[in-house]
Amino acid sequence: MQYESVIGLEIHVELLTESKMFCGCAVSFGEESNTLVCPVCLGHPGSLPVINQKAIEYTIRIGHALNCDIAEFTQFHRKNYFYPDMPKNYQISQYDLPLCLNGFVDLEIEGYTRRVGITRVHIEEDTGKLVHMGESGRIHGADYSLVDFNRAGTPLAEIVTEPDIRSPEEARVFLQKLKSILEHLEVSDCNMEEGSLRCDANVSIRKIGTMEFGVKAELKNMNSFKFLAKGLECEIKRQEEILEDGGTVIQETRHYDSVHNITSSLRSKEEAHDYRYFPEPDLVPLEPDSGWVENIRLNLPELPDARLNRFMDKYNLSRYDAAILTSSKSVGDFFEECAKDYQNTKTVANWIMGDFTAKLNSANLEIDECAVTPKHLIDLLKLIDNGTISGKIAKSIFDEVFETGKLPRVIVEEKGLTQISNEEEIIKIIDMVLEENASIVEDIRQGKDKAFGFLVGQVMKLTKGRANPALVNQILRDKLK
Ligand code: ADP
Ligand code: ZN
Ligand code: MG
Repeated sequence: MQYESVIGLEIHVELLTESKMFCGCAVSFGEESNTLVCPVCLGHPGSLPVINQKAIEYTIRIGHALNCDIAEFTQFHRKNYFYPDMPKNYQISQYDLPLCLNGFVDLEIEGYTRRVGITRVHIEEDTGKLVHMGESGRIHGADYSLVDFNRAGTPLAEIVTEPDIRSPEEARVFLQKLKSILEHLEVSDCNMEEGSLRCDANVSIRKIGTMEFGVKAELKNMNSFKFLAKGLECEIKRQEEILEDGGTVIQETRHYDSVHNITSSLRSKEEAHDYRYFPEPDLVPLEPDSGWVENIRLNLPELPDARLNRFMDKYNLSRYDAAILTSSKSVGDFFEECAKDYQNTKTVANWIMGDFTAKLNSANLEIDECAVTPKHLIDLLKLIDNGTISGKIAKSIFDEVFETGKLPRVIVEEKGLTQISNEEEIIKIIDMVLEENASIVEDIRQGKDKAFGFLVGQVMKLTKGRANPALVNQILRDKLK
């Protein structure tokens, strides 16, 4: 039986404001535990919240960028539940009157476009953070847990999509694009490892051709693109097996264990009435000034779609290349910085998309977190262009730049890696190689041309890869005639 998956995402993004959502405490990651706190974010009785205007502005920015309507009248609600990282026993959130509504994001998937509806974007406050002490790092199997309230009260925008996503790959592309949009808006650092961008994925399956949705499961905290797609695949398979066995899927919240590639039940799903939502009595409803809202729209920065088109026009790149280069703000910025000083933008693009990205992935670094800057890359490309080094040597120099942050030309000096383009010098080495490989030379003369590459390889080996390969080929050919 053929099934189709139906996926909707809920994304939490910590806003990069200086202070918290309802108090003046600083927002900062990695400070000593429980140093960024006050009576408001610790939920002391009698303390009163005050709305952070910047957080509202950032959320409106997000709303505009996701093609939403911005509400003229919006309100905060209390969402009541107990958890040790939330001393008030309620979270100030939004319920039926969110700040932004009814938007969409268009995804370019290979061969088609998918429009994903944005149900809403609302604003709330983050909770504190539990640190589970023990080997697992999770609450299960922990010896004890500690709580850090530095994060409590950090402004959090929650973005909810319609169930318009149809595959794990589409979910991955959506999250990638959303992240890039948020980065370009400069409203969050979107660091998934530090938890400033967190994604919950709702997924159900239905028989192809049917309209009605199946019962969904919610996968909590899918905090990398890879795990989002893998976790969804794994959960879809589980649901298919249940239906194939004649069972029924139950609505629940599940955890994806990426090590064992299984999902397991965390809890049955809460219903809205479990939270006893009611209007936050300590805050008046918010009616954003329409002129202000419009002004925020007019001042939106360039977003990834526009940037992609500009990259194609201005730098003469294919849609494919431009899409990769604009899929994260820092990569786009790196590329443009190089393009200022270097004409052959396709070469820059190839370097960034090829070896460089592979290195970043294996080191688990973003492009702006590593030792290679645009200055390093351009220096390297210019050394290739003026014949100082070969393309092959350039790769090993790049590896060293990546490790040390030294400028390529400094590495070339230090290691004497300058390319040998002096004909006499190359002829000397070739003569040596020919002498040592008399039988192979004979083979080639008999027409076994395959062995030619072996001789080239010997010359490169003796020169430690420094011989100009074009010259080596040409001289060898002449000699073997
Ligand atoms: P709940 O009431 O359980 O919170 P919502 O209707 O608010 O559910 O939707 C929460 C998220 O789940 C949204 O992203 C939505 O797109 C998605 N969703 C809703 N129904 C389904 C379904 N049947 N299958 C997959 N995702 C769904
Ligand atoms: Zn505070
Ligand atoms: Mg809901």
